[in-house]
Amino acid sequence: MKWDEFSEWGRKVSDWTQDYHLTVGDRPVRAKTEPGEVLNALPLSPPEGGEGMAQIFEDFETIVMPGITHWQHPRFFAYFTSNAAAPSVLAEFLASAIAPQCMLWQTSPAATELETRMMDWLRQALDLPDQFQGVIQDTASSATLAAVLTMREKALAWRGNQDGLFNQKQLRIYCSSEVHTSIDRAIWVSGIGQQNLVRVPIKGDWRGMDPDALEAAIQADIAAGHQPAGVILCVGGTGVGATDPVAEVLDIAEKHGLYTHVDAAWAGSAMICPEYRHYWPGIERADSIVFNPHKWLGVQFDCSAHFLKNPDDLVQTLAISPEYLKTHGRDGIINYSEWSVPLGRRFRALKIWFLIRTYGLDGLRDRLRNHINWSTALHNKLAQEPDFEITSAPMWSLWSFRYTPTGREDLDELNQTLVNKINDDGRIYLTQTRLDGQLVIRFQAGQFETTEADVMMAYDVITEIARTQL
Ligand code: PLP
Repeated sequence: MKWDEFSEWGRKVSDWTQDYHLTVGDRPVRAKTEPGEVLNALPLSPPEGGEGMAQIFEDFETIVMPGITHWQHPRFFAYFTSNAAAPSVLAEFLASAIAPQCMLWQTSPAATELETRMMDWLRQALDLPDQFQGVIQDTASSATLAAVLTMREKALAWRGNQDGLFNQKQLRIYCSSEVHTSIDRAIWVSGIGQQNLVRVPIKGDWRGMDPDALEAAIQADIAAGHQPAGVILCVGGTGVGATDPVAEVLDIAEKHGLYTHVDAAWAGSAMICPEYRHYWPGIERADSIVFNPHKWLGVQFDCSAHFLKNPDDLVQTLAISPEYLKTHGRDGIINYSEWSVPLGRRFRALKIWFLIRTYGLDGLRDRLRNHINWSTALHNKLAQEPDFEITSAPMWSLWSFRYTPTGREDLDELNQTLVNKINDDGRIYLTQTRLDGQLVIRFQAGQFETTEADVMMAYDVITEIARTQL
């Protein structure tokens, strides 16, 4: 395809996109495809000659689309959402058209400076002190890895990158039992090792880390000759929204001089609303915080906001500056590739800019509040049903339940069958988790275009399928 033919297909793709988003609610949320179906529809070998866009686009519609699970469906209540609000899709289109590689200031000054400003807008939206500076990472997993590497380097007096971990004391990192597996991965990749990730027991309704148990674990490690290096806090855990007592955990970390990282990948978006900030009192004392605007805020995937109280610690951990990456003759510039594990960086700030300017913070707050209120209303309604049990109360817009009809012993199996049947039905999409050893069903609302009617439809679908198909 030549660029002078682009606009014809560009217009078709744009029309298709608008139509897709306006009608996606008519499609089953989860793909109905069987394993191998898409693979078998694809030619075994690549074409030797070029093909026309008309044929390629037809195959996209007939082969690919049936195998898509619709994350932008208004009744996507599974996992956490991964939103793509219209203005951020436009920005992503532009970013992919100009395709800058934004590793250094000079490789696109506008991308770097827009990123600096957008991260400061988000900082203000979350009401974090202006001491915090931010960088956009691809995912929360990368931000957590960067934070764990920083913990490692600080604890080893910046010798870890050079000397490795041989002949060192065992570094110890602390977190609750409710954290996301991205924390385990960061521990593996950093070379610290799973056995040095200390799972502190939880307590209370928020299923947060027990501060007394954290203190005891640190003391025991010091007595055993280990070296405590950092604490990873959880605000809005993936299973049921577990949230640590932030201020109390930070008190203990500060007392022991430990680097702290807060994983608020999902719930961080809600902190643009002042009334939810009581969930992270003292957050301004953390060293590092991550949240994903691509989850709940509406920014097209991927976009993870990573705030640092002292970016120098991160830069000292990750920066490598060979001659071919140097920018001579410019002072005070930021090269964001020194703030992240990958060198190459996409132009992600543009979609934050388009999104926030289109809706304003108030427009975004309204959406989040609606999700939380509607989800809570659904929770209250299901709680009235004697054959259902609420297994965890709403944390923001996330809660969980089980179907518990009298006379059934096999509740784990029964509830897994219920999830499967609901998802085969296609009107809504839910996923399960384990809570205190039991299989429970999660519900969260957060899709950008979801309505109250969409959320309440979940009540009809859940009760109807449970009572007629099990
Ligand atoms: N932390 C929490 C609490 C999450 O729920 C998730 C994903 O859902 C992650 C981290 C990982 O996010 P990412 O896919 O951006 O690495």
